[in-house]
Amino acid sequence: MRKKIVAGNWKMNLLSADAQELFSTITKEVTSSEKCDVMVFSPSLFISKLTEIKSNVKLGFQNFYPEEKGAFTGEISITQVKDSGADNVLVGHSERRAYFHEDHGFLKNKVDAALKHSVNVIFCCGEPLEERESGNELKYVKQQLIDSLFHLNNSEIVKCVIAYEPVWAIGTGKTATIEQAESMHKSIRSWIEEKYNSEIANSISILYGGSCNAANAEELFACPNVDGGLIGGAALDANSFLQIIASF
Ligand code: PEP
Repeated sequence: MRKKIVAGNWKMNLLSADAQELFSTITKEVTSSEKCDVMVFSPSLFISKLTEIKSNVKLGFQNFYPEEKGAFTGEISITQVKDSGADNVLVGHSERRAYFHEDHGFLKNKVDAALKHSVNVIFCCGEPLEERESGNELKYVKQQLIDSLFHLNNSEIVKCVIAYEPVWAIGTGKTATIEQAESMHKSIRSWIEEKYNSEIANSISILYGGSCNAANAEELFACPNVDGGLIGGAALDANSFLQIIASF
């Protein structure tokens, strides 16, 4: 059975007190017998406070620098991530690719650094609108996986989760249709099978992200190849996030 996951990406939102309150509210409701793993990718500044709250909700970093230490002013190293006690990271989010120019090679380094330090990776991929409109979305997403993830060997790739997030659906309120989501997830699984094998393909969780909310999560999560969601806006409201978790 593949792991089901609902992960919240808080992005650059909330102040310390709000973050602690939101995390505590979610924590009170998420039990150890939940049907899915629940994660929160908080701004890094709040992680140490949040790790003090005993919780069934796992914590992760939205970003890090793929070196162990050194002269990289303002960055957080992968060893500092590991040391924090929050051992999940996002890699390849479209906002990091677009605004911070994180290219394929850099993302590959981030994946390698995280795995080297036993930090779990959620690798994000997804096509911009023009690629979807020109019918190039499958080729585009496959190339993202080839460029930054498919260099991993069998024992490494199984430690990764993939999040398919069409760029045109992130923060826009325009969710992918069930058909669009399932078709891309099925293709991703088939590329993993092609590169690795069917056992590995069937064991890797593939999450959907892009305006997923309490109203559409159940339908999306019912797709055979959708194993959960990476949630932005709707993760900032405890009720919406809890409803999404309850969609399983
Ligand atoms: C995201 O940031 O990964 C995301 C999916 O955002 P939203 O749910 O707001 O579209």
